[in-house]
Amino acid sequence: MIHILTPDIYNKIAAGEVVDRPYSVVKELVENAIDAGATEISVEIDGGGKRRIRVTDNGGGIEKADLPSAYASHATSKLRSADDLFGVRTLGFRGEALASIAAVSKMCIVSKTAEDEAYSLSSEGGVLGEVHPAAGANGTTVTVEDLFFNTPARLKFLKSDGQEEGDVTNMIARFLLSRPEISFEYTVNGKTKYRSFGDGLAAALAAVYGKEILANLCEIDADRHGVRLHGFLGNRNFSKPNRTYQSLFVNGRYVVNQTVGAAISNAYASYLMKRQYPFYVLFLELPPEIVDVNVHPNKADVRFADNQVVYGTVYSVVSSVLDGNSRALEYLVSERGRGEASSAAEEAPAASMPAASQTAAPSPQMSYEEAKKELQFEVPVTAGRSPMPRSGPLLFEVHAPTPAEEDAFEANRRFLLEEEKKQQRVDPATLEYKGELFHTYLCYERGDEAYLVDQHAAHERLIYDRLREKMAARSVVSQPMLMPFVLELNAQEFAFLKQNFSLLREIGFEAEEFGGSTVKVSAVPADLMAMDLNAFFGEVLSSMESLRTIRLPDLLKDKLASAACKAAVKGGEQLTEKEVRALLERMDGDMGLKCPHGRPVAVHLKKSEIEKLFKRIV
Ligand code: ADP
Ligand code: MG
Repeated sequence: MIHILTPDIYNKIAAGEVVDRPYSVVKELVENAIDAGATEISVEIDGGGKRRIRVTDNGGGIEKADLPSAYASHATSKLRSADDLFGVRTLGFRGEALASIAAVSKMCIVSKTAEDEAYSLSSEGGVLGEVHPAAGANGTTVTVEDLFFNTPARLKFLKSDGQEEGDVTNMIARFLLSRPEISFEYTVNGKTKYRSFGDGLAAALAAVYGKEILANLCEIDADRHGVRLHGFLGNRNFSKPNRTYQSLFVNGRYVVNQTVGAAISNAYASYLMKRQYPFYVLFLELPPEIVDVNVHPNKADVRFADNQVVYGTVYSVVSSVLDGNSRALEYLVSERGRGEASSAAEEAPAASMPAASQTAAPSPQMSYEEAKKELQFEVPVTAGRSPMPRSGPLLFEVHAPTPAEEDAFEANRRFLLEEEKKQQRVDPATLEYKGELFHTYLCYERGDEAYLVDQHAAHERLIYDRLREKMAARSVVSQPMLMPFVLELNAQEFAFLKQNFSLLREIGFEAEEFGGSTVKVSAVPADLMAMDLNAFFGEVLSSMESLRTIRLPDLLKDKLASAACKAAVKGGEQLTEKEVRALLERMDGDMGLKCPHGRPVAVHLKKSEIEKLFKRIV
C-alpha cells in the first residue's frame, strides 16, 4: 500500500537531489527492487544509461490501483511516521525517487503482483498516461529512456557515455557484493558484464573481480561489543593502487565512512607502503538506532552514535587478523567452514567453532554501554597515521571535492606558495659569499642575516627543473613494442584511462580498449623504452582520484629526481669559485627552493639567533 507522507515527516528527511546522473537512477531502481523482496534483478543500460536504463525484478510488484501513486512525490509504502525514521531498514524511504526520475525522462512501469494480472503505466516528463493491461511475469520492470531530455542543462552536465557507464558498473559491482543472496544480471549495450547467482559472497567476489582474487583474501566474521564485522580482507601483502577496491556496507548500505576507513587503513599501516591500499569488502552491522543513515541526501555516509566504539572494534578485529594474534582464530572463517557454513551451522553450531572461541569470545550480551567503557583502552592513536575522527554531535561528511571546490583549493594553495616564495626571494647581488663548510654548505651573509646553501640539494633542484622543462617541451616519438602490454582494470580505472587516451597519445603512448575493462598499450614514448610499465601505470592509477589529467612530468617525477641527483655535484665535493658563482646565479636568489625530495636547499639564520647561541642575548 503506497501512501503520501505528510509534510512534517518528509521535511524531517534531508532534502536533496536524488537523481542527477544515470548511476543514481540505476541505484534508486535497484534499491526499489531489493526493497520489493526480489531474488533476481536484471539491469540493462545503453549509451551510458542516458539512452536507456531498464531494471527488472521478480519482487512483490505494485498493485494496479497503486501504479499512479508510485509516480507521486513523497509517495512511499515504506514509512508512515517520523518515528519510523529511527529504525530505517529498507533502502529507500523518502518516496521521491520515482517521481523525480519520471519528471526528467520517459518512464514506463510494468508490474504484476501474484494476485493480479500485469499492468503498465507510462509517463513523459512527469505527465502520466493511462493504466493499461500488459504482459509480464510477477514483479516489476521499470524502463527509463532519454534521461534529462527535457532539461538540457542537466544533460550537458553529464559525463561521457563511457564515464557514466563506468560509474554505473562500479555501483552494480557493489550491489552484487552487498546482496550476494540475490541473482544479478548486468548488461551494457547488449553485452553481459556481470552475472551472479545468489550463491554467496565468495561467488559474488569472483563474479566482480575474477575468481583468482579469492586466493589473496581471507574471510572474517567477528561479533564484538554489539558490532558485527564480516566479509573479505586482502592479505597483508595484497594491495591495490587506489581506494576503488574498498567496499564497506553498513547495515546493508554502501557507504564511504571516515571512521571505519581510518580504522582499516591504520590496521594495515605497517604492512603496506605509501600509495598502496588494502582490498576489502566488509559488512558492518550495528543496531540501527545508533546509526544515522540520513547524513547525506544521497545516503553515501552514515554517522555513528559513538565513533570510538566503531573505530576500536574495527581496528582491533582487522589488526588481530593481520597480525595473526590468538584472537584472529575467533574471527577467521576457515576454508572448510566457508563452503559448509550453512549446513554445519544448522546441525552443530558449537562443534563447528574453534575451541578457543567458546571461552574467549566476548559475551554477545555485552551491552553497547559496557563496550564503550571497555574500548576506552583499546583505541590506538599512533602518530603519523590517519587521525581518528572525533565522535560527537558535529558530524564529518566524507565526500569527494567537487571540481569547483578542488579548483578553489588548488588556486588557494598556489597563491600561498607564491606568497611564500616572494618572501624567500632575495636580490642575489646583496649576498656576500663567506666561504664553505665541510665542502658542502656555502655560506652567505646579507645584512643581519646568514644563509647556508646545500650545494648538492641546490644543484639537484636546478637540474631537475631543467629536465622537467625539457620533457614538457620535447617532441614525441612513439616506439611500438614487440609485445603489447595489457592492463586489467576495474570500471573506474578504465573510465579514467579511457578519458585520458588522447593525452597518453600526446605523450607517446598508444593505448586502446581491449575488451571488457582491459586496456592494451602497444607503443611507448621512445625515450622511455626501458621503463617499467607496471610501475608507471601503477603510479598513474594511484593518483587517479586527485589527477584531473595525466601529465608526464608529474608521473615521472621520481625518475627525473634520481637523474638529477646523479648529475648534481655531491656534498663533500669542493667547488671552484666559478662554480660557486654559477650556482648562486642560477638559483637567482630563490632561498625558498626545495630539492625534488622536499628537503630545503637553503637554511636561513638571523644574526640574533646566532647571538642567542652564545648567550649574548636571551
Ligand atoms: P521509496 O522507495 O522511497 O518508497 P520510490 O519513489 O522509490 O520511493 O518508490 C515509490 C513506491 O513505489 C515505493 O514505496 C514502492 O511502494 C513502489 N515501488 C517502486 N519500485 C518498486 C518495485 N520495483 N517493486 C515494487 N514496488 C515498487
Ligand atoms: Mg525508492
